[in-house]
Amino acid sequence: MKIWLNGSLVAKEQAVVSVFDHGLLYGDGVFEGIRAYDGRVFKLGEHLARLWNSARAIMLEIPLARDALQAAVLDTLRANGLRDAYIRLVVTRGTGDLGLDPRKCPTATVFIIADTITLYAAELYERGLAVATVSTRRIPAVAVDPRIKSLNYLNNILAKIEANTLGVPEAIMLNLEGRVAECTGDNVFIVRRGRLLTPPIADGGLEGITRDTVLDLARSLAIPHAEESFTPYEIYTAEECFLTGTAAEIIPVVKVDTRPIGPGTPGPVTRRLTASFREMTRREGVPV
Ligand code: PMP
Repeated sequence: MKIWLNGSLVAKEQAVVSVFDHGLLYGDGVFEGIRAYDGRVFKLGEHLARLWNSARAIMLEIPLARDALQAAVLDTLRANGLRDAYIRLVVTRGTGDLGLDPRKCPTATVFIIADTITLYAAELYERGLAVATVSTRRIPAVAVDPRIKSLNYLNNILAKIEANTLGVPEAIMLNLEGRVAECTGDNVFIVRRGRLLTPPIADGGLEGITRDTVLDLARSLAIPHAEESFTPYEIYTAEECFLTGTAAEIIPVVKVDTRPIGPGTPGPVTRRLTASFREMTRREGVPV
């Protein structure tokens, strides 16, 4: 496996960063998870734009131009002979001293890993997941804006640990007001009274690229939809529920906090959006 690290493609064993890297010491950095389908990188421009926005929000300078980073992503895929892949693009604050001060880190560390990923077994896409709401609340935007896709995932990891102890693979996280924000690595959708709903970003979720894609697909399929706040009650009384993310894609949810959602099987809106999404991933993207 070849890793792109600070401008060179190196063997996995040589792809190492300093123990003084602030990405490691403090989670100071930003990242993207991107997918390639059949030789095309899906929504690459959107992922690079979000990476640059995340970096700008934390005053982190990415030490290469957007075109050059795009070319590096494509080079990494080619070097690994991958046409279907999950790409992890990471920019850390770089090497500094043991203090927090980012000014002590002169250059960012940049690396790209291209690998394969299977988040959930194929049968779960057919049968649907059971998930649970957890007590760990999403960090409020006044503390850290959840739109920043940072390396600091401890809030999400604490929620994941709760999900693990409850015996479910994913957690629904609420904001401080008790409204649904998102999952630990996915956005949440419900279908209630025939309308497709997802929480507004102001409720504390990442502005997911798969979420945006699903909203675009709903528009083109004339599925009534809105960005609207909801609480667990609306999930319990919904007809359908599903999660979206680059790694998870669209995964149906059939049980929340032990309550079956709708009839307890993936619903027609979820199936329709999934089919359109799959079709889109085969059609669109930047060629490798
Ligand atoms: N929320 C969180 C916390 C995430 O980390 C992610 C990405 N894994 C998402 C939502 C989904 O975003 P996207 O569709 O852009 O992958």
